[in-house]
Amino acid sequence: MSDDAMKLVVVGAAGRMGQALIRLIHATEGTTLHAAVARPGSAFIGKDAGEIAGLGPIGVPVTDDPLSAFLHAEGVIDFTTPATSVTFAGLAAQARIVHIIGTTGCSAEDETRFKAAARHARIVKSGNMGLGINLLSVLVEQAARALQSADWDIEVLEMHHKHKVDAPSGTALLLGQAAAKGRGIDFGENSVRVRDGHTGPRPAGTIGFATLRGGGVIGDHSVIFAGESERLTLSHSAGDRSLFARGALQAALWARDKKPGLYSMLDVLGLSTR
Ligand code: NAD
Repeated sequence: MSDDAMKLVVVGAAGRMGQALIRLIHATEGTTLHAAVARPGSAFIGKDAGEIAGLGPIGVPVTDDPLSAFLHAEGVIDFTTPATSVTFAGLAAQARIVHIIGTTGCSAEDETRFKAAARHARIVKSGNMGLGINLLSVLVEQAARALQSADWDIEVLEMHHKHKVDAPSGTALLLGQAAAKGRGIDFGENSVRVRDGHTGPRPAGTIGFATLRGGGVIGDHSVIFAGESERLTLSHSAGDRSLFARGALQAALWARDKKPGLYSMLDVLGLSTR
């Protein structure tokens, strides 16, 4: 490990993404696992983070005390729950460090809190940390701009594993927002997230969502542009959770020398059009 390796805290250390992050940080030159935080009351407190992630002992005991974890840390990577991410954004702001937020299902109120924390913290937040989906979102925006006519109906279809707790997925929403941006319409006012019973015909110009859950699917997304006589589908399949961990680590290293602010993966990947 080099002396200038970025010291990173993993929150949600025992979770699916937390374990993938611990394995990746351990294997990545230029990053070091500074601390691992689990939920208060978790059975993993005091256990070695490497053992939990299937690496064998690495000398980092899991803690439930964020303050000790943050001492001398340079960044925190957080794939947990909205309430936890809001709390950690406040702590990252106090410590003036990098906060990478992968958590999905956050409310508008949560987003306001992240914005406030980003006055002091360098926050990168994205519903999907992977290169493929972020590139896809750029393509979706372009397609929606080119297919301006409300004759082209836009539908976002997603499938995830049976343990996922929020719907539509953060990635599906990210893709829907990209489509709305391309169309130049307000996403909140034009998205249809649920259909049930006698819904009547499809309102023109809306962006619809359909959610499938089952098995161990890591994440499949399609954006369908349906015209009267042709249909265009742009899609992506995630094969392995480590792709999100790789993106999160790339984001942490990118944000290390940035000014405080709220950034997205498009900024990290140089795909931003704003
Ligand atoms: P998970 O349930 O396996 O892990 C979440 C972990 O957070 C759990 O271990 C839980 O105990 C822990 N946690 C909850 N409260 C905590 C607290 N106060 N302090 C510390 N730890 C706490 O879930 P997962 O599959 O790893 O996903 C986590 C989140 O990341 C979800 O919102 C998911 O949608 C999102 N996700 C985002 C991306 C992306 O690229 N942005 C990719 C995958 C998953």
